[in-house]
Amino acid sequence: MPARFTSLLVGLALGLSACTRPPPDPAPAGPRMEIDYEAARAMMVDDIVRQHRAQRRQPGMPREISAAVLAALRATPRHEFVPEEQRPFAYADTPLPIGAGQTISQPYIVALMTELAGVRAGANVLEVGTGSGYQAAVLDHLGARVHTIEIIPELARAAAATLARLGHTRVETRIGDGYAGWPEAAPFDAIIVTAAPDETPAPLIAQLAPGGRLVIPVGPEYGVQDLLLITKDAAGAVTTTRVTGVRFVPLTRERD
Ligand code: SAM
Repeated sequence: MPARFTSLLVGLALGLSACTRPPPDPAPAGPRMEIDYEAARAMMVDDIVRQHRAQRRQPGMPREISAAVLAALRATPRHEFVPEEQRPFAYADTPLPIGAGQTISQPYIVALMTELAGVRAGANVLEVGTGSGYQAAVLDHLGARVHTIEIIPELARAAAATLARLGHTRVETRIGDGYAGWPEAAPFDAIIVTAAPDETPAPLIAQLAPGGRLVIPVGPEYGVQDLLLITKDAAGAVTTTRVTGVRFVPLTRERD
């Protein structure tokens, strides 16, 4: 990999960490550089493993990011989910703008949320906040039956087109307010919410299957939110565990 690109990746990885921080400045004009996306993706996954080793002793953190989740991240071309001008930054551990004031989440947070959701092949999964479609593609690589809902129509349509172009034809997409979940497809073994409400939507808890896991950032708009893991046991009892602090875009409502 060209040294210039390696240092660009490392610099970005060191400097940025949250889900909504401003994106890096566009790459300076100059000769087009060839990017080895596969090598960059491998570096991104190695970086996720390193980051998790440093954080996993915190209460609530999973012991490891599983081999299955790491393989799904290695198999998902993040550069295909970002606008052309953001492609040089696609494998830095940072959120990136995807249009309409929204972001594709930081790769480490995608890894962490996917791990927490405990998704197995054949699981029925709901994602609230399709954004670029990247998280949905990662879940599809895990063999889940993915339903993903996005409130901004232009993003929902673009994500559906990207998912179809990349062969994720099993992923079901919908335009709408994910606060209400997707009742016709419930119950879900896992629900991942990628925008932050100020409290956990009751319909999402109701649509969680016994034994199901809901991963959701909850907290103030544009402040630090709590990433929560909410589990429902076989008897329907619900337990909430705080995992870490995160920054997500707000969960908006259809009336907003
Ligand atoms: N998971 C996305 C990805 O892989 O690119 C990133 C999601 S981005 C951080 C959060 C997304 O949630 C935005 O696209 C935003 O429009 C969407 N969103 C916000 N409120 C929503 C709601 N009530 N229902 C559905 N989507 C919502």
